[in-house]
Amino acid sequence: MRFEVSRVMDTIEQRLTTDVTLAQAVVDLAEVARFVALDGGRPINLLRLGMVVDALSRYLIDAGAMLYPVVGREVLSEAALTSKERMVLGRWADDGLIEVTPVVADRPVEIADFTGLPLIVVRDVPQFATRFPWLVESPERVLRLVPRAGGAVLTPGGEPPPPNDGKERLVVVGKATLPIIPPDPPTAAAEAEEVVDTEPTGETEPETEVEAKVEAEPVEKSEEAPKGGQPDGLQSFTARGAQRFGRTRVVRRRFTRAEPSGVGAALMAREWRCGEPDCPAFGRFRRIGQPVPRMRAGVPACPRHGEAVKDVGPRPAAFAVAIVVEDLARRRFVVSQDHPIVVGREPADPEDVSVGAWLHEAAAAWIAKEHIKLAIDDGKLVVTDTSDNGTLIWKRSTPDIKEETERLYRKSYRLDGWDSVELYTGVELVVGDHRLQTIVGSEPASVLLDAPTVALRLVD
Ligand SMILES: [Zn+2]
Repeated sequence: MRFEVSRVMDTIEQRLTTDVTLAQAVVDLAEVARFVALDGGRPINLLRLGMVVDALSRYLIDAGAMLYPVVGREVLSEAALTSKERMVLGRWADDGLIEVTPVVADRPVEIADFTGLPLIVVRDVPQFATRFPWLVESPERVLRLVPRAGGAVLTPGGEPPPPNDGKERLVVVGKATLPIIPPDPPTAAAEAEEVVDTEPTGETEPETEVEAKVEAEPVEKSEEAPKGGQPDGLQSFTARGAQRFGRTRVVRRRFTRAEPSGVGAALMAREWRCGEPDCPAFGRFRRIGQPVPRMRAGVPACPRHGEAVKDVGPRPAAFAVAIVVEDLARRRFVVSQDHPIVVGREPADPEDVSVGAWLHEAAAAWIAKEHIKLAIDDGKLVVTDTSDNGTLIWKRSTPDIKEETERLYRKSYRLDGWDSVELYTGVELVVGDHRLQTIVGSEPASVLLDAPTVALRLVD
């Protein structure tokens, strides 16, 4: 069993980051680890962080959702944790996957303010509303963790908790309530039936319900003629792409990220350096993108060490990219100025990104080992096709505009607006949180699947 718990911890670990480009929500780690109501178990249990990761996955309908945990330093030596848990926490802290700080206080709220990330809470935090009025004014930015059926769900602030009887199939988003056609056969989790249109700007536009976007552009309308040597290339993309949109039943907009605050935008525009050379947050050897400094009396400071951090220049441009396969986001990664990324079936460099795990036979035959390269040029994300079969760009200046497509073959394209990149039908790369209509036939897999004790509790 110890072995399985280790595996679960490893799985959870892959979903933690303090890179503000990659993260999708921020949480006080100890608060959820001590949230006994989640499973009725030990007073503190690190596996509960996995429940938060799962809840975030279901909320975003994103099997690769990334969480930014903040933890008080004293928790690393908390006696009520197992030695294994303390060891894991220490490793996560050293790797910069969680943020360690002497006093948590309003730090998670501050990160949410600076970055625009949703804030996950166990209970409301009105005591911080003086410094951060949006806690009251924009309650949708606060996602409350609610125990449900042995796991947890996230409920945007100001909303009633989701129904708990498992029979009433309602989707509660914003102020509107939408009945969902009962699934066939009914599944255990109502969230799996939710269809979400993620919306990164945090605009407070009314929640719109859009029915079945079935009318995809006919293939013939495309301006791009099939290129010599690959006569069927374009049709192979667009014909099936049209079918894919035909499955979409309902589209909702749901809060995913707000605009960073003014201070936050200014802080995230710069690269910072902590005086402690080995600092996991702002040290010289950090391998992933930076977090955002803590403001101490108007001075940007290291959240770990407390001292002022030094401005060492502009922060290199970076974009989060999601791999979306069969309408479900599977993994998120960062493309930065210093680190272009190759995506394909089986890239040679382990630092690059493989989509091989999600491909059926035809897709695997189509997608090259190194299909495209993503890099940053002049602050924009640029995709270069390096494949034999080409790549399809779906061009959209806004989420609602009708798509145009362009086939890319051994050349580059500068992504803009809501453009996305299709390697093969159903295998798409989407920038940031720019996912469009999504229907989920299967729920994102739980990171806790290998944890026998938790799994047993999930059943009852
Ligand atoms: Zn530091």
